[in-house]
Amino acid sequence: MHSKKEINVFWFKRDLRLLDNEGLQDAINSGLPLLLLYVMEPSLEKNPHYHKRHHNFIAQSLIALNKELKQFNTQVYVYKDEVISVLERIAASMNINALFSMQETGIDATYMRDKVVKKWCVSQRIVCKEYINNGVTRGISNRNNWRKTWTSYMMQPIRSFEATPACFTTAKNINLTQEVLEPKKLDGIQAGGTKTGLAYLDSFLKQRHKKYQQSISKPEAARTHCGRVSPYIAWGNLSVRYVWQRAKQAKAQGACGFQLNAFTSRLRWQAHFIQKFEMEARMEFESVNIGFRQLKKEVNTEYINAWKTGTTGYPLVDASMRCVVKTGYLNFRMRALVVSFFTHHLWQPWQMGVVFLGKQFLDFEPGIHYPQFQMQAGETGINMLRIYNPTKNALEHDKEGAFIRKWVPELAKLPTPFVLEPWSMTAIEQEAYGCVLGKDYPNTIVATKETYNHASNILWHMKRNPNVRIESKRILAMHTLPDRENIMDR
Ligand SMILES: Cc1cc2nc3c(=O)[nH]c(=O)nc-3n(C[C@H](O)[C@H](O)[C@H](O)COP(=O)(O)OP(=O)(O)OC[C@H]3O[C@@H](n4cnc5c(N)ncnc54)[C@H](O)[C@@H]3O)c2cc1C
Repeated sequence: MHSKKEINVFWFKRDLRLLDNEGLQDAINSGLPLLLLYVMEPSLEKNPHYHKRHHNFIAQSLIALNKELKQFNTQVYVYKDEVISVLERIAASMNINALFSMQETGIDATYMRDKVVKKWCVSQRIVCKEYINNGVTRGISNRNNWRKTWTSYMMQPIRSFEATPACFTTAKNINLTQEVLEPKKLDGIQAGGTKTGLAYLDSFLKQRHKKYQQSISKPEAARTHCGRVSPYIAWGNLSVRYVWQRAKQAKAQGACGFQLNAFTSRLRWQAHFIQKFEMEARMEFESVNIGFRQLKKEVNTEYINAWKTGTTGYPLVDASMRCVVKTGYLNFRMRALVVSFFTHHLWQPWQMGVVFLGKQFLDFEPGIHYPQFQMQAGETGINMLRIYNPTKNALEHDKEGAFIRKWVPELAKLPTPFVLEPWSMTAIEQEAYGCVLGKDYPNTIVATKETYNHASNILWHMKRNPNVRIESKRILAMHTLPDRENIMDR
């Protein structure tokens, strides 16, 4: 009887890259033949947080990885099944010594899956090695040394990819059929893969960053002048450390420091938010501030549908929602605006909108999305309450109406003031311009002056509630940095 071949397995998750992938490099250096694995899990494909654009991006990333791996006579073996059954099949034909993977700060479904995998590894006497991702630390109870730890992680040398064909094993003995990858080029949606991510980073550092700060809140200009590297970070095509070091180098070589400092701060916020979720994952289901359990909002499906379909009668909100549904991207301010509109003006529980919006973002990152959504909903008790006025935001950030015209074609032919405030047209003007409110474009679904007062009164009152205050103190001690800056969005 043949003894089974001894191997190690590297399981790719949201770290779909070769460069600066510590777990992968350690697995390669481990001395045993390495099997590279990706598992397309039917349970995740069905999970409401995920859109087919995510699976498409993953498939593109895997194809790009396989192109890079060709010179090492290997590939990532991709199977469609639940992780445990794939590992069991592998273990049936080879002896797995160790399973290497990243430590994922994910939704409950992926966290539970990881626990099951670890338990299975213990039962099979397989060593399970998890690696820190992007400077997020598991198991800490406060942020006292967090900034120092994060910075020293960012300053460590980039792990280059070093391998020879002899480092890898094939999967030819495994009784599993490989998944055929057939991603589509989706119009208007960023394509996956490290090479594409690098092209975005290069063009940003070379040219696009020059108008970064003045464009960041503008829904149209942000598409060109912001980094646009978020999907590549979220799915791990690029490590934050690599992006951060490249930005620092560009600054040292004469790129605009004022702009790039704002960019590298945001790279720190990336981990800062994910760290919150890592430390309190129940945020997927309830407000981080337990005091807000007392806040009762009535679900209105008509409002929710209008928000989802971009038919609220507020042009900037509608343009933003239609745009994100189609392209998977919105700049920060518009993300904040649509959440504020949903939770404050429509007065809907954040839980009724958070999954739908996350699903649209190509860069969906649970650890940023959930804490940001709750912060914009005003339910942390520690952040400034911000109830955005959609019309004021349109006047400030889309003053010519270019973004609105692009996404709300019903309004495209109107003169600019009416694009931003269609309700200010008279009935005769509506007829003359061929845009009758209530027929061609919806009447406003709520009156924001009234909804502002309603939300503001209740939420300010809540902030003074003893339960909210006790919780706010706890949150400050647990989640904020000792030198917390009083800035917009942390
Ligand atoms: C309600 C809401 C939900 C959000 N959900 C996500 C999400 O699922 N995934 C996600 O990556 N970002 C999310 N963000 C943060 C932010 O809007 C995006 O990271 C940013 O718009 C991505 O565009 P960019 O790559 O051009 O950013 P840039 O301005 O070029 O920033 C560089 C990088 O820094 C990080 N970053 C930027 N802004 C923030 C921020 N405010 N908080 C944390 N990290 C930041 C991102 O990784 C980004 O790629 C959310 C914001 C809000 C208000």
